[in-house]
Amino acid sequence: MIKDDNIKIFNKKLLENLKNKLISNGFKNTEVFNDVDSAKKYVCSLIGNGKKIGVGGSQTIRSMGLLEDLKQQNNEIITHTKDMDYETRIQIWLKAQNADFYLASPQAVTYNGEIIFIDAYGNRVSACIYGPKKVILLFGYNKIAKDIESGIWRARNIAAVTNNIRLQRKNPCVSTAICEDCNSNLRICNVLTILYKKPTYTEYEILIINDVLGY
Ligand code: SF4
Repeated sequence: MIKDDNIKIFNKKLLENLKNKLISNGFKNTEVFNDVDSAKKYVCSLIGNGKKIGVGGSQTIRSMGLLEDLKQQNNEIITHTKDMDYETRIQIWLKAQNADFYLASPQAVTYNGEIIFIDAYGNRVSACIYGPKKVILLFGYNKIAKDIESGIWRARNIAAVTNNIRLQRKNPCVSTAICEDCNSNLRICNVLTILYKKPTYTEYEILIINDVLGY
């Protein structure tokens, strides 16, 4: 049986390699964190107080308890909720796109450091491409995929299916537990975005966390 320590060492090596790939793709401010607490501490110190912070529906970020910590530091969190109508959401998304920071987590990151998002509305990816003063991406090792093909597979068949179950959407994948590439008007997988390299004018911080986080 493999000891947990060995898995940690294996992950650390994998994550350090991925860090170097992301740096070579232009994401200079990429760092590996051993655990959630050290990652949260870093983000809280980077953001400080009194800032406007946009965030999408990331379960990674919510599971870390990061938003509570940032609120305690007197920061404003800008995010939509399930009950908001379309007009209200648009106003929130535009405000989030002009925030000081935008927090997000991709659905997959390949060994070569390509970053993959799948979205229903596209508000998150547009904010990750341009607008906010700085984008902060966080993810655990469970998001790592061998290549773009397996990253897209992961985004659809693990991240999107699990999110459909969480959101109790009446989409076919909720019954079959695999993406059926549906035509449902409740489909949450409408926009596929791949960052091959850092978007030219957008500043990034990327935190790779040695833990399992989000979907
Ligand atoms: S495309 Fe449809 S079936 Fe596939 S994961 Fe998205 S919502 Fe589910």
